[in-house]
Amino acid sequence: MQIKFIILICFLLSFNFALADNFDNVGISKYAVLEVINDNAPLRQSDNENALRLTHLYKNVVLFADKQNENYYRVELKDDSYAYINKKFVEVQAIIPEKRYDNVEKITFKNEKNKFIAKIETPFKSAFIVNEEGQNLDFTLYDNFYDPIETKVNNQNSKFILSEKIENELNIKYLNDSKLFGYDVESDDFGYVLSVKKPPKINPKKPLKNIIVTLDPGHGGSEKGASGFGYDEKDINLQIAKILKKELKKRGAKVYMTRSKDKKVALYDRVNFAKEKNSDILLSIHQNSLSNPKDVEKKHGTGTYYYNAQSKPLAESIQNNLLKETKFKDDKVNYASFALTRPTSQLSVLIECGYIIKEDEAKKLADKAFQKIIAKAITKGCEDYLKENFSKT
Ligand SMILES: [Zn+2]
Repeated sequence: MQIKFIILICFLLSFNFALADNFDNVGISKYAVLEVINDNAPLRQSDNENALRLTHLYKNVVLFADKQNENYYRVELKDDSYAYINKKFVEVQAIIPEKRYDNVEKITFKNEKNKFIAKIETPFKSAFIVNEEGQNLDFTLYDNFYDPIETKVNNQNSKFILSEKIENELNIKYLNDSKLFGYDVESDDFGYVLSVKKPPKINPKKPLKNIIVTLDPGHGGSEKGASGFGYDEKDINLQIAKILKKELKKRGAKVYMTRSKDKKVALYDRVNFAKEKNSDILLSIHQNSLSNPKDVEKKHGTGTYYYNAQSKPLAESIQNNLLKETKFKDDKVNYASFALTRPTSQLSVLIECGYIIKEDEAKKLADKAFQKIIAKAITKGCEDYLKENFSKT
């Protein structure tokens, strides 16, 4: 009686699990070999568009899926560790009975002028994840492993710690002695290149000197952004960005703009532009709105957005200065996954200076003298951040 009861419970539990999971096996104890067909393909923590992005994969990366549902493959990173990729980003190359693994052939560490580099050469380009752990980085390459006998290691560098041999996995930790200031994993013909920017040496009297800032005035051309009281967001964004450019340059920064005219620029062109310019800081300038304009009496003011932990202190510093100078309501420092907050190659912050759908805020946002107050506050926010974290002692 008791045993039957337990079996019944187990049956019900597994039935429920199957319903909730809704993934079919690719084939009993088989894997689908998937090849990524676009750069920048998000690998997610679960099977929906809002799930956390674990990493972005490059074209031609190979993954092993053990299950699928209508839109997603479940990718096995290692035993009991899974990630999910939307089917639109991959093509099935084969069904195989067992996963294949490779050895990393060579790891070369380099100490360049502005960055530390770990070059990872492998014949098999598989999934990787890079995580911020406080001020350190943790890079893991799956379905590949480092074997002290097979893998050549050049120029061992004390900043990078290679883990002991782990089955089917290569792990490299980057140990930092200051806050992170940008990092990237790039794909080349040989494998991957992990690069970590060296912190800037800041003169507290002129913190922005030689700092490269890319300004991104949101929207443009046919994309007006939000609008209210006769103003279009795209115009205010550009006006503020132009004044901000002057202020930053006055303080010694090198400044680029993703657009300096009223024209449409694709989101990823903005992101790539900032990276090509070797930016230290990327600031995307916007004015806010709400889907229900009535809520604006409750929710308005200045808000700042970041995605990667390394960018949070800069967002906080900008937010503090904006609140102080504009006297706008605090719409908080917010964690948000946007194309312009996700990049890691520089600190990336998106600023919603105010709400264009609130009359008194809209009028101020469109006023040249007030725009200058905003630009100066953002500039001071950058300076405070650099001074606090990277001053030479
Ligand atoms: Zn906007």
